[in-house]
Amino acid sequence: MRRPVIAGNWKCNLTSREAVALVQQLKASLDRPTVDVVVCPPFTALAAVASQLTNTSIALGAQDLFWEPQGAFTGEVSAPMLADLGCRYCIIGHSERRQSFGETDDRVHKKLRAALQHGLTPIVCVGETLKEREANRTFEVVRRQVQGALHGLSAKEVGALILAYEPVWAIGTGRNATPAQAQEAQAFIRRLLKDGWGAPVAEAVRIQYGGSVNASNALELLQQPDVDGALVGGASLNAEAFTAIVKSAAEAKLVTR
Ligand code: PEP
Repeated sequence: MRRPVIAGNWKCNLTSREAVALVQQLKASLDRPTVDVVVCPPFTALAAVASQLTNTSIALGAQDLFWEPQGAFTGEVSAPMLADLGCRYCIIGHSERRQSFGETDDRVHKKLRAALQHGLTPIVCVGETLKEREANRTFEVVRRQVQGALHGLSAKEVGALILAYEPVWAIGTGRNATPAQAQEAQAFIRRLLKDGWGAPVAEAVRIQYGGSVNASNALELLQQPDVDGALVGGASLNAEAFTAIVKSAAEAKLVTR
């Protein structure tokens, strides 16, 4: 059985001090969670949050990385730098980066390889825009993004990553995909994995849903067989809501200690 994974994407929010306050609330409310829990603060708060997470079950993730390990790349942050800070995960190819910062499938692929090379678990985001969905191009777009990101990777490498299906029209809009829409797209992604890397890999890879997940809709989404977790934006900034989503994941998949 795939262990659910709930990740909070704090985006460009919170000073270090605010981030520490949030993670302290999460530590208190998420005592020994039975699912994997990850928080992804902005780069500037990673060190402060890392210092709060030693000997806890909450893991640290970053929101992006640059593919070269070091060099003349002003403003960039590399995979070994993130690993050095205690990051274990990294979001890659978020739609906000694809839309506003020129992230292409090729760049996503390079970042993904760099993350794997430095022991970070990539959370690779894919998903269609509303226009693409309305033009019945969801599967085509998701296929291009998955294959563009993962091509040339070994079964072992693919088995080590997490995918997040995040329909762009559902991100930060309050309009989540229905459980049936999420399940349909995520079953499709799992079929792509099976076709490319075999059934055991496809069965092992965790696929999160992301897009306006909150305390009220999480359970039904997470009850879908191919929804193995959630990537949570807005609701992850509220300790109570994020805790409720983590608990829904445990309930949906009946995870016991
Ligand atoms: C996200 O940022 O990945 C996300 C899904 O945001 P939200 O939950 O706010 O829609």
